[in-house]
Amino acid sequence: MTSPLFLGSEIYRGSSYGGWHPLRVPRVSTVMDLSRAMGWLPAGQYRTSPRAKPKALTIWHTPDYVAALERAEAEQAVTDPVRDRHGLGTNANPIYPEMFRRPATAAGASLLAGELLAQGGTIYHPGGGTHHGFPDRAGGFCYLNDPVLSILSLRRAGAARIAYVDIDAHHMDGVQHGLAGDPQTLLISVHEERRWPFTGPIEDDGGGNCLNLPVPRGLNDTEMAAIRDRLILPALVAFAPDAIVLQCGADAVTEDPLSRLTLSNNAHWDIVAALKALGCPRLLVLGGGGYNPWSVGRLWTGVWATLNGHEIPERLPEAAEQVLRALRWDNPPKLGRNPPEDWFTTLRDAPRPGPIRPEIAERLAHLALRPATRGHIPE
Ligand SMILES: [Zn+2]
Repeated sequence: MTSPLFLGSEIYRGSSYGGWHPLRVPRVSTVMDLSRAMGWLPAGQYRTSPRAKPKALTIWHTPDYVAALERAEAEQAVTDPVRDRHGLGTNANPIYPEMFRRPATAAGASLLAGELLAQGGTIYHPGGGTHHGFPDRAGGFCYLNDPVLSILSLRRAGAARIAYVDIDAHHMDGVQHGLAGDPQTLLISVHEERRWPFTGPIEDDGGGNCLNLPVPRGLNDTEMAAIRDRLILPALVAFAPDAIVLQCGADAVTEDPLSRLTLSNNAHWDIVAALKALGCPRLLVLGGGGYNPWSVGRLWTGVWATLNGHEIPERLPEAAEQVLRALRWDNPPKLGRNPPEDWFTTLRDAPRPGPIRPEIAERLAHLALRPATRGHIPE
């Protein structure tokens, strides 16, 4: 088995959606810098993501939309009809300098990942995971849908059965739109209930291949471990995929300003470790949400460590600490105004265990009875 490959890019460094947008914070560049400071990212394990050509995006996105997105970047403006029709130039999906190049780079990495995984392996692409993109419309900070593109690319390169697991705090609406009803693709989403985009109720099985688990605010590590052991792992084992795509959004931790879930980063790493241990021939791990520069950088660097089997030290060496101390969060919400010392000196959060609440146990029992959880997806 070859070593995991990290697909990154310098396009993410210094790119911002604007002074008050949640995506004004550095994310992928932090993971690259921290991983290098730890000695975890040798040149042989790193590859620069190619920017997808507009035509390559039209395997799922409409040519009209791709052209509108390119034009919006070039002109740094959109007309009212384009805003209404394609969701470009809105508060969530603003005009910003790299608004085509940056998502096209994330899409290019996802397309490349499918090809590189043809013979098997593990790829980490923290700039990916933009699960709210629709064929002809931007939404939820996403301009393109690189998870869907990765799945189509994996399929084109020979993976027949593909499982997609999404542990972002928000529902995978764009991915479900693209792949609901496909018996060769299993989609699992765990997301906060009563939160935007308000899709993905437990009853929504997407025609048989979707397992949606909305969870109440205050989700703890013990509950996430139960979700892993009673839902995610049994469904994956039963489905027996030849590729797994994990959308590992970092917005379900306590420190994130956009959700009310209260996981520690251990919950995410434990899921990554469990998926890796399944021994599926192809594993692609994407990023996703994550809006606190410290929690997202620490969580996603720990994902890379977990994929490689690196031990995470209790206290970071000086060079890594300097990366974290140099991060800036402009116009921070209250929780970011006085960063606690351990955001600079550690990667691992203290665990956040708790009781498994009855509604979570009941929902897991309910989903355990679904055919999809037992590997039976209707044609
Ligand atoms: Zn999210």
